[in-house]
Amino acid sequence: MIRTLTLPGHVSPLALLPPLLLMLSACSPRVGSSPSPPGAVPQSIIFLIADGAGPAHWTLAAFADEELAVRQMKTVGLIDTRGFDHTVSGSAPTATAYATGVRSRMGMVGVGPDSLPRETVLEAAMERGMSTGLMTTTAIVDATPAAFGAHRVRRSDSGIIARQMSTKGIDVLMGGGRAAFRAGAQPDAIDLLAEVRQKYTYVESIDELRRLDLASVDRLLGLFAEGDMGVVSARGAALHDMTTAALRILGRNPNGFFLMIENEESDTQAHANAPAEVVIREMLDFDGAVRLALEYQADHPQTLVLVTGDHETGGISLTYDQRREVVMQYASGAHTGVLIPIFASGPGAERFGGIIRNDEVGRALIELVRARR
Ligand SMILES: [Zn+2]
Repeated sequence: MIRTLTLPGHVSPLALLPPLLLMLSACSPRVGSSPSPPGAVPQSIIFLIADGAGPAHWTLAAFADEELAVRQMKTVGLIDTRGFDHTVSGSAPTATAYATGVRSRMGMVGVGPDSLPRETVLEAAMERGMSTGLMTTTAIVDATPAAFGAHRVRRSDSGIIARQMSTKGIDVLMGGGRAAFRAGAQPDAIDLLAEVRQKYTYVESIDELRRLDLASVDRLLGLFAEGDMGVVSARGAALHDMTTAALRILGRNPNGFFLMIENEESDTQAHANAPAEVVIREMLDFDGAVRLALEYQADHPQTLVLVTGDHETGGISLTYDQRREVVMQYASGAHTGVLIPIFASGPGAERFGGIIRNDEVGRALIELVRARR
């Protein structure tokens, strides 16, 4: 079934958005840095993933906002998102390819197709004394962050994934997914949350996060929902606040850091064949996190910023009506196999241009971390 959604005639999709949001994006300063010499090695890496975001997601966002932060990123590539034994993939194997440099099977996180654990870029960063962080708008144990911070054959083993992620020394963990830390989700019925709270500064709401004196926080666990944190209208400025806090904490390490930031809703809302304005809001909110990353990079030029998705969701196509205005159509309520954009800036950015495989992205990331002196 094809669900058709028409954007209003000659009115720009921009007109669908709240005036405040537009003012904010119109007033935001342009930032960015000059290209680094080829072969340069980054001190820190900020890897932003809009789950499910393919070319049409970005097109809608670009039509809605001429000043998208991601437009400042001048190295652009297209990622072949296939998995080890399949063509149209899912978040678990695609995130595993980014995290480990190895294509895997559906549902597997942080393990190769042989089910054996593979070192992730986050673990390689920890080994070199870098700080590390994982952040998402869905459960922190969901497939994308799990692929970087855990090793499981089944992405659904959320209690075990929560334990692996929260006991290995990751400095910043933020998202939803409190339920996975409760005794009921743990195989031995241990109250993992109580245990982990002894090692982390712990917050349960964005208000609490805002009130923290971040200068005195070394390790931060923020679990802002039992499960998913929901769409922008439900989670508010959470992604902005979480990104700001993560960069403040991780940025203090002179050895640099690796931070992965995910917005899940560009995938979830495309699965639901949501109206164009919902998808646009998610992409613009995500682009706000990209802007924060680029502002950080402007102050710290030895930072590599990467922005991409993990696969396309919804088969979104942009056809037109009798006035040649955009009509958004979904071909699917599931994932598709289209090549997806990746944007890069900073030291090492040149490695991510052209058509590139998802596992090549992961191998490049690990090589860049290992190349540090
Ligand atoms: Zn999905």
